[in-house]
Amino acid sequence: MHPPMPLPSTTAILQEVFGYPAFRGQQEAIVEHVAHGGDALVLMPTGGGKSLCYQVPAIARHRAGQGVTVVVSPLIALMHDQVGALHEVGVPSAFLNSTLSLDEVQHTERELMAGRLVLLYVAPERLTTPRFLALLERLHEQGKLSLFAIDEAHCVSQWGHDFREDYLHLHLLHERFPAVPRIALTATADEHTRADILVRLQLQEARLFVSSFDRPNIRYTLVEKDNPRAQLLRFIRDEHEGEAGVVYCQSRRKVEETAAWLCQQGLRALAYHAGMEAAQRQQNQDRFLREDGLIMVATVAFGMGIDKPDVRFVAHLDLPKNIEAYYQETGRAGRDGADAEAWLAYGLADVVQQRRMIDDSPAHDEFKRVQRHKLDALLALAEAHDCRRVRLLAYFGEASQPCGNCDNCLSPPDTWDATEATRKMLSCIYRFWQHGRQRFGAGHLIDVLRGRRTDKVEQYGHHSLTTFGVGADLSEPQWRAVLRQLVALGHVVAEGEFNTLVLTDSARPVLKGEVQLTLKVSVEAPKRSGNGRLR
Ligand code: ADP
Ligand code: ZN
Repeated sequence: MHPPMPLPSTTAILQEVFGYPAFRGQQEAIVEHVAHGGDALVLMPTGGGKSLCYQVPAIARHRAGQGVTVVVSPLIALMHDQVGALHEVGVPSAFLNSTLSLDEVQHTERELMAGRLVLLYVAPERLTTPRFLALLERLHEQGKLSLFAIDEAHCVSQWGHDFREDYLHLHLLHERFPAVPRIALTATADEHTRADILVRLQLQEARLFVSSFDRPNIRYTLVEKDNPRAQLLRFIRDEHEGEAGVVYCQSRRKVEETAAWLCQQGLRALAYHAGMEAAQRQQNQDRFLREDGLIMVATVAFGMGIDKPDVRFVAHLDLPKNIEAYYQETGRAGRDGADAEAWLAYGLADVVQQRRMIDDSPAHDEFKRVQRHKLDALLALAEAHDCRRVRLLAYFGEASQPCGNCDNCLSPPDTWDATEATRKMLSCIYRFWQHGRQRFGAGHLIDVLRGRRTDKVEQYGHHSLTTFGVGADLSEPQWRAVLRQLVALGHVVAEGEFNTLVLTDSARPVLKGEVQLTLKVSVEAPKRSGNGRLR
């Protein structure tokens, strides 16, 4: 072993190698801590500058004779970009993943063992192979294994949205090489995920660095779904004509249909989802990154590790799974710091669908319970009348003041007391059951409440119910908002193919008027023929 050499100045490295005058935010504290061999868990929002947090220590430690930094990264594209960028600034680095030929792998391994690499990016499944661990052992014996960096560390958590089985084996690093410092980094971590990362990566002793998750240049807007395509088109045309943006949809089919539809409307839209042919998908991604003003319509398969600074909007046509996913996806807007917008349209069907996906999943009960809890938090954000940012940041444990740059701050919504309406709706669902032991969907329910004598109403004799017409004072969209709340709050569930409505136990206190409900006054939707479909 060599006697330790002094560490060079990290600020000098930042300036000379990367050409930046100064560290940002917590970077300096993190870099110093890690360069001196401390363990760290870094929570920093997307675009916050996580890469430098391990790249600068890697260079400093390599210069001090401590050898290579091994970076665990879940995405091939990400590794590729990072290594490309490092080569541009003259830092010897390489990656090992499944895209390389045997020759290339052997070449990289020789460079590694010769101590020439400053950073080596490795896919988690390769890192934990006996063969690779043996290489690391040899390096370690020579005192040439400097640091482990675990990027996208939330992948280790099953509570998170990007769980990767292979990340679970990464505790091996600590067990096999307890003396080698580790830095884990992520842009997503509510308390659950954070605790999970600490335990699963055995980082309990690591210093925690939490940056503010605020992205002040992103304006948050969450609207009620009425006619989502038309709403999306209006949003893009009115505010983002000719600008780059991402539109997230839940299903592959919807991605394709939405992209095609936007193109028909004269916009330049591309599609991206995991079911596409790889070459086509890659081509679309490359075009989106290279060309100006393209719209990428995508499933959540698109985005992790895609660093396009001038994405001006991220739109959601379907509800994400939870706040972390929402934050992560919207965080892809405005990485350059200029104004950007996060826009989401959600409706009753989204709420029903997300609830059902959790209920129907094969996961164990505890997992489902957490997922429901997370969905509830997102629904509360969607239904909020007050500052979205305050709620979003509160979710990540940060207190803040109303932001002045979200829909609710910019135009505070009018609200109405929906307590009475709620009771009427719940008792109407109850009467259906009492009357004929039958269940019905949203369309019929609202028809009965509003006193519309449709064929179906006649057929079931529902015009004779005491609840028939008791809600004539409210419009159809108002009733839909009430129902959406009731489903969001879990007092009503929509079951089966026809989304028939059923009361839950928690509906009882609401029926008795013991629970107050305040709703936003929604914008009047145009009348349409009631086909009973959920929107
Ligand atoms: P993250 O991984 O946290 O999303 P990156 O590491 O990709 O963020 O950094 C985002 C952008 O900010 C990159 O273009 C990076 O070069 C730039 N950046 C990071 N730190 C600094 C700094 N101290 N000074 C100037 N630019 C920085
Ligand atoms: Zn606000």
